[in-house]
Amino acid sequence: MVKIALQIRAQFENVDKLYTNHPDYQWFLKLKCLSCGEESQKFHDLTESEKLPLAHMRSETNLAIKCKLCGRENMIDVVDQSNGFLTGDDTDFKTIVVFDCRGIEPIDFEPRSGWIAESANNGTKFQDVDLTSKEWEEYDEKNNVCVSIYELEWRFVKVK
Ligand SMILES: [Zn+2]
Repeated sequence: MVKIALQIRAQFENVDKLYTNHPDYQWFLKLKCLSCGEESQKFHDLTESEKLPLAHMRSETNLAIKCKLCGRENMIDVVDQSNGFLTGDDTDFKTIVVFDCRGIEPIDFEPRSGWIAESANNGTKFQDVDLTSKEWEEYDEKNNVCVSIYELEWRFVKVK
């Protein structure tokens, strides 16, 4: 069992805070099977609030995938309470979620929609921000300023 953190970094303009609508956020990940090294071609998704029963193990998981190449059943889960946020003061990468990985490892991420951005100076709270293009721009009518997020980057880091 390995825990892997997804960390993000971004530039903000008039934005105070960025986070996901967890536990309902859909994490889109490319995965690598650790038994045979097979890497998925498409993105798989998992959601913290959606648990699938694993009858033979008497437990639940967010995502169970049978490897196409070696046939091994691998699992990946969002670690409880692992959701973080990025603020305007963060200049380096910061963890926004940790995955509990069994037999599998995330190798790429796609942000898509479901983010929440809070405008600076008690401005508007934007729901369902779409970061598919790694940037986002809106107009905050409360403060009469443009708000934007750009240069979104991410990386995976093993945690203990
Ligand atoms: Zn495999």
